[in-house]
Amino acid sequence: MAFIDRTARSLLLGELLAGLGLTLRYFFKQKATINYPYEKGPISPRFKGEHALRRYPNGEERCIACKLCEAICPAQAITIEAEPRSDGSRRTTRYDIDMTKCIYCGLCEEACPVDAIVEGPNFEFATETREELLYNKDKLLANGDRWEPEIARRLELDAPYR
Ligand code: SF4
Ligand code: SF4
Repeated sequence: MAFIDRTARSLLLGELLAGLGLTLRYFFKQKATINYPYEKGPISPRFKGEHALRRYPNGEERCIACKLCEAICPAQAITIEAEPRSDGSRRTTRYDIDMTKCIYCGLCEEACPVDAIVEGPNFEFATETREELLYNKDKLLANGDRWEPEIARRLELDAPYR
């Protein structure tokens, strides 16, 4: 009986048709994969990506050199030096992050009283050398300028939960 059953299945191409049916069913379903890097998946407002230093709309740096981010960083990845300006305001003269030490915990962002240092949405910052991951203030401010619209929108979306 089993022999007849097997022979009938072979002659009628049952398994082949079942396989084709399965392919056809998935062909019309929504795709589970995306064509990265041309397509990108959604990112949470709390995503912890590449760091950025933000400015106020008038172009002034937000950072007031309080050093809370430097103190709280568990990886000791942040180095800050500061001096008072001629107008009496306090600003950093050096703001470095060693991205090879960073563990992307987000504590620097949480500690900042003026939302200056943030972890933005960018996750595509792989480099060929270690030196390129030693970020200075210019690099961090440039990141802030580049990603400000996305960062501001994410902070706004997350604000009700803080
Ligand atoms: S994300 Fe965490 S480890 Fe990285 S710089 Fe901020 S506090 Fe330090
Ligand atoms: S980034 Fe924020 S927490 Fe860090 S020194 Fe500047 S103001 Fe203070």
